[in-house]
Amino acid sequence: MKQPEVLHKVVFLDRDGVINRDSAEYIKSRQEFEFLPGSITALVRLREAGYDVIVITNQSAVNRGMITLKGLDDIHSIMKETIQRHGGRIRDIYYCPHRPDEGCDCRKPKPGLILKACDQYTIDLNHAIMVGDSTKDIECARNAGCARAVLVKTGNGPKSEKELKAGGFEADYVATDLENAADWIIQEDV
Ligand SMILES: [Mg+2]
Repeated sequence: MKQPEVLHKVVFLDRDGVINRDSAEYIKSRQEFEFLPGSITALVRLREAGYDVIVITNQSAVNRGMITLKGLDDIHSIMKETIQRHGGRIRDIYYCPHRPDEGCDCRKPKPGLILKACDQYTIDLNHAIMVGDSTKDIECARNAGCARAVLVKTGNGPKSEKELKAGGFEADYVATDLENAADWIIQEDV
């Protein structure tokens, strides 16, 4: 049997509000997908520093009937190609297509997507970091057992920062954006 590939330093990244601009109306087409300033640069720096980046994203728009799986794959292909053209790399993407009412095991804050990644790759969560703009991302990192959780102030970040403080669920670092988060991660060298 083929042994799973060993990833030594992993950064799990939320997508909407971290890599690209989020929308209350969901991202339903490639036309609606817009990189946030600095996010591509951040991905290039992470790659140069030897990190494997895995995207972990809730995409309930799929089961809400707002986008097809083909449409979602299309967005992800363009996203990966654009990042790669600039010298970055997304190693893999795990998404949850379910609506909150479906009670699945993969919708963040549940750790299902991270655990799935750990089935397919050998990942030491003691050296893994999750970055997101939502309280769900920070809770997901804790639920999965990631070493560090970073909140970015893009997307829903400002609202989430307040919610986390109120719930006693603070992130290890609050970054202005993904670029700042990448610099912190590289310097922290978890
Ligand atoms: Mg988000």
